[in-house]
Amino acid sequence: MNLTNPSQLKNVLGAYGFSFSKSLGQNFLIDENVLNKIILGSGIDESKGALEIGPGAGTLTRALAQNSKKTVAVEIDKRLMPLLGYTLNDFKNTKVINEDVMQVDLNKLIEEEFGDMEVAVCANLPYYITTPIIMKVLEECSRVFSMTVMIQKEVAERMVAKPGGKDYGALSVAVQFYTEPKIVCHAEPHCFMPQPKVASTVINLRVLDKPAVDVKNKKLFFEIVKSAFGQRRKTLLNALSKSPYISIEKEEIAKAIEFAGLPLDIRGERLSLEEFGKITDYIEERKK
Ligand code: SAM
Repeated sequence: MNLTNPSQLKNVLGAYGFSFSKSLGQNFLIDENVLNKIILGSGIDESKGALEIGPGAGTLTRALAQNSKKTVAVEIDKRLMPLLGYTLNDFKNTKVINEDVMQVDLNKLIEEEFGDMEVAVCANLPYYITTPIIMKVLEECSRVFSMTVMIQKEVAERMVAKPGGKDYGALSVAVQFYTEPKIVCHAEPHCFMPQPKVASTVINLRVLDKPAVDVKNKKLFFEIVKSAFGQRRKTLLNALSKSPYISIEKEEIAKAIEFAGLPLDIRGERLSLEEFGKITDYIEERKK
């Protein structure tokens, strides 16, 4: 069975009377080259577990099953269950869970399904919910060593962006706080059935042993980042002094910016994670 072959995929989908749901972001992968790059980029091997989000017809799931010790896939669409029963029938190390991934306790699932295996998340993500899924995994799952995911190209570019560029924003900081992101490859619309309107990119997020910056208050760090990028045209000083999250006086915020070694007219988009960290720690100390 080769589900990257469009006519084979069509036959299987037809046999189960399946029709694509746009609202569930169903664009199935039909490019073997891209599929292989996801597997290679993910770092899985036969000693590791793979957690897939949104298996669709099981194209990536089959490749993961072949290359991992165990594969577990979480799929929201009940209509795909009998079809996945067929396409994954020859793999005994594979399990499909019919749930909305956003409602799943992923730490519990990983503990129950993978025991002490190292776990990689792999997915061709539904684009309507890419960022919430990635942030859920990064914030909740202590045992995931990498995420290799197909996402919208623009979103991938924001994730890898460095300070100062137009793509650098709160998402770049959030992803780089937890991981080292790396572009694996790009995938044009013709790599999918049906074709999406946008170009896609496979990104690998290698989870860091500990966050990239050691901050005293993680919640405050992200509130400061959100405030800094929420008002991009303002200077950092003005953006933070208008922020609902920050209760200290403007003069103290100015001192925090100077403490980080930065000029007072700097904008948030130029700050590195370390500089956001220094400002956070200064404000955390003063707000007590
Ligand atoms: N992995 C398949 C492939 O590459 O061909 C399908 C990828 S398709 C882009 C996204 C898949 O995610 C669909 O099967 C869709 O039903 C599923 N999905 C959408 N929202 C979901 C959610 N909240 N939880 C779990 N699966 C979801």
